Amino acid sequence: MAGGDTEWSLQNDISVDDPEMHQLIQEEKERQRKCLELIASENFASKSVLQALGSCLNNKYSEGQPGQRYYGGNEVIDKVELLCKKRALEAYGLSPEEWGVNVQPHSGSPANFAVYTALVGPHGRIMGLHLPEGGHLSHGFMTSNKKISATSMFFESFPYKLDPATGQIDYNKLAENAQLFLPKLIVAGISCYSRNLDYKRFRQIADENGAYLVADMAHVSGLVVAGLAPSPFEYCHVVTTTTHKTLRGPRSGMIFFKKGVKKILPNGEKEMYDLEQKINEAVFPGLQGGPHNHQIAAVAVAMKQANTLQFKQYQQQVIANAQVMAKALLDKGYILVSGGTDNHLCWVDLRPLKIDGARAEKVLEEIGVAVNKNTCPGDKSALKPGGIRLGTPALTSRNFKENDFLRVVEFIDQGIKLAIEIQASCGPTLKDFKTKLIEDSEIKAKVGALKKQVEEFALTFPMPGYDAW
Ligand SMILES: *Cc1c(COP(=O)(O)O)cnc(C)c1O
Repeated sequence: MAGGDTEWSLQNDISVDDPEMHQLIQEEKERQRKCLELIASENFASKSVLQALGSCLNNKYSEGQPGQRYYGGNEVIDKVELLCKKRALEAYGLSPEEWGVNVQPHSGSPANFAVYTALVGPHGRIMGLHLPEGGHLSHGFMTSNKKISATSMFFESFPYKLDPATGQIDYNKLAENAQLFLPKLIVAGISCYSRNLDYKRFRQIADENGAYLVADMAHVSGLVVAGLAPSPFEYCHVVTTTTHKTLRGPRSGMIFFKKGVKKILPNGEKEMYDLEQKINEAVFPGLQGGPHNHQIAAVAVAMKQANTLQFKQYQQQVIANAQVMAKALLDKGYILVSGGTDNHLCWVDLRPLKIDGARAEKVLEEIGVAVNKNTCPGDKSALKPGGIRLGTPALTSRNFKENDFLRVVEFIDQGIKLAIEIQASCGPTLKDFKTKLIEDSEIKAKVGALKKQVEEFALTFPMPGYDAW
C-alpha cells in the first residue's frame, strides 16, 4: 500500500478527519483577511514558510547539535539545521568565524531565558527596559507585589525607563543605576518603542560594569536585515530574536553569539570567547528537549527570503507606511510617545483624549481593526493602559502602500471617536462600556456600518499564504 492509506486512516484531509477544527481554521483565515491587522508583533508568513511548518519534519527527534545527536536518522535534519544557521548568518552579514547562531529556541521568551541561564546563572543580575515603558516580559518584569515573569523569579531584575520629557530611553539614569546595581547582563530590546536604540551607548554602560550586552531585536530583526535599523551586532555579545515579527517567518527564536578571538592579551596570547558552549547547553539540555525541525526549516525558508532585494523593499515600505501613519495621526491631533517613529510602529498616547487603551482597543476590534492596548510612560496601572500600539508590518505584507494607510488612519480615528462617544454615555466600568457597545442599538448600527467598510476595504488586498492549504 505504498502511497495509499494506512490501516489507521491517517491519510484523510483535515476537512474529513476533523471538520470542526477545519471549520475553525477557515474562520480564522477569513478573520485575518477581513480585518486590518495593526498588531506590531504580527505578520503574515509566506506560503512556503507555512508549507515547511506543515511538513514531515515535525516527526523527527534530533536532540543535540548537527553531527552530535542523541537520535539516529538525522542525516537530513542535520542538513536542514546547518542550512538554517548558514542563511541566518548570511542574512545579517556575519562571518562564521566571529558569530555563531543557535536556531533551536522554540520562541523569543525561551531564547532570552536560555541566555540568562547561560550567562548570569541563578539569581544573577539583569537590567532590561521596564515592560510598561516599552520593554518585554522576558526582560525581568515584576511589579511591587508580584514577580510576573520567570525571568524575575530566577534572576534579579532592575529595570531602566524612559525620560518622561522625551519619551526616549534615559541612558544617563541607566548608567547611574547600573553602577549601583552592577548587573551581569544588560538587555537592549523593545516591544513598544518607536525609536532606534543606541547600542554604542549601551555597550559603554555594559563595559563600565563588566556586564554582557544582549540585544533582543525581536521587533526590528527584519529592519536590521534590510539595514534600516541600526545593527546590534557591532556592539553586542549576544543577539536574540523572534522570527515571526518583522522577519516574517514561523514562530520561533534564535540566539546569535560572538565567537573566536575576544582579545589579544599583553603576553601575545589570544583570549577566546566562551559563549557558544554555554548558550548551546542552556538551550539543550538545559531548558529544551527536541528541536522543532519543522520550525527550523521554516526559519531557513524565511532567512532565504530575507536575504533578497524584495525583502529590503518590503522593509522600506514598512517604514514608509509607519511614517505616513505617524504623520496622519499627528495631523489629526493625536499624541505619539517620543513624538514620531523611526521604525515599524507608532505608540499613541490617548490620555489627553480621556479615553484609555483598553476601551479604544475594544471598539477597534469590533469594527475589524486589530491593535494592542499599551501602557504609556508614567501609567500607574497596567489595568488602565493609556494608549495603543500600531504596527505596519502585517498590512505591508498585504501590499498596503502610503495612501492605503491614510485610509487605515481614518478608520482608527473613527473608532476612537466612537469609543469616546460610548464612554460619555455609559457607566464608569469597562463592563458598562462593553455592555453599551454591544447592546445599544444606535451604537451597534454605527459599529456595523464601520465594520462593513473596513471589511470591504481589507478584502481588496491579497493575503500571503492564503492558499497554503
Ligand atoms: C515578542 C518578543 C519576545 C518574545 O516572543 P515570544 O515568541 O512571544 O516568546 C521577546 N522579546 C521581545 C522584545 C519581543 O518583542
